[in-house]
Amino acid sequence: MRAMVMHKQREPLVLMDVPRPMPEPGQVLVKVSCCGVCRTDLHVVDGDLTEPKLPLIPGHQVVGVVAELGGGDVYGLSVGAKVGIPWLGGSCGQCAYCQRGEENLCDASRYTGYQLDGGFAEYCAADARFCFPLPAGYPDLQAAPLLCAGLIGYRSYRMACLDDDESGVGAKPCFAHCQGSEPEGRSMASPLPHHGNRVPPFQRLGLFGFGAAAHIVSQVARFQGREVYAFTKPGDASAQVFARELGAVWAGDSFSPAPKELDCAIIFAPAGELVPAALKAVRRGGRVICAGIHMSDIPSFPYSILWGERSIKSVANLTRRDGEEFLALAPEVPVQTTVHPYPLERANEALDDLRAGRFNGQAVIVVDE
Ligand SMILES: [Zn+2]
Ligand SMILES: [Zn+2]
Repeated sequence: MRAMVMHKQREPLVLMDVPRPMPEPGQVLVKVSCCGVCRTDLHVVDGDLTEPKLPLIPGHQVVGVVAELGGGDVYGLSVGAKVGIPWLGGSCGQCAYCQRGEENLCDASRYTGYQLDGGFAEYCAADARFCFPLPAGYPDLQAAPLLCAGLIGYRSYRMACLDDDESGVGAKPCFAHCQGSEPEGRSMASPLPHHGNRVPPFQRLGLFGFGAAAHIVSQVARFQGREVYAFTKPGDASAQVFARELGAVWAGDSFSPAPKELDCAIIFAPAGELVPAALKAVRRGGRVICAGIHMSDIPSFPYSILWGERSIKSVANLTRRDGEEFLALAPEVPVQTTVHPYPLERANEALDDLRAGRFNGQAVIVVDE
């Protein structure tokens, strides 16, 4: 089969004829239709992530059709099923992280296009348990960005805006002081959800770096009634226009002050200096989520910009729960993806264009037209 192969980091991928993978028990062989190009692929090729298998076929937003079953239990997948293969390619299922549902943190987890061959090829073998059925209504090209920009973007978004924790988002109970219209007789022991005058806690969301993930997250945030503030590389007028087209109420330079105090922010760009910038932009109790797998060093900053119960948290990888939630939500929004197709043999050009920020949305390698 044809594949773009990385023999060494910091060198261009090479178009080669390599043997088609044989699916092992529990795996499926997927005939690849297309595969998204993610910033993580750049980190792999550029050597920021230091432990790839070599030689490696990169690519972890793989859209295709099951061509062969590896035997054993393939979890209901059958030949002809359309599936997506994401970054998380496997986890041990046994360790404490896996048992807690934190398979994204498992020491033995393995990643597509990093420790496992990925989708810059005509075929890709994958563990059936980690493949996702794709939502109807998405052509293959448009589905590819959902698989990483979408999934990890959504995980970041959930941590920024949705996850319930001590800061009280979600079904925060209201107690006796509430002036709302709930029935009498509430007590601390049986709090009722508030229906009245609560200020939504994570309403104003800042997105730092407006690439593939942000272009999806902004649509989800808007759909759920949030305001998006887009921060781009200084002077990147094209990304700012793109952000406004996708519903951002404001778009401007990363280091310019936000026009309003934000409730939360997600940093997608791999630039550590954005962490203090985002902390300064969020209110007391606000959250800053670092969504990338790699970031340059964070400069030191005064404690005062973290104080006031602001928090910083990183997002690592994804879980299958993220995939199930997001792939169910995407068609409801409906999330529309902006894609730039490149034929397989031009994967290096796609990586270069991503590195240089030459397009908005996501590059997708088209394998089978
Ligand atoms: Zn594990
Ligand atoms: Zn990715």
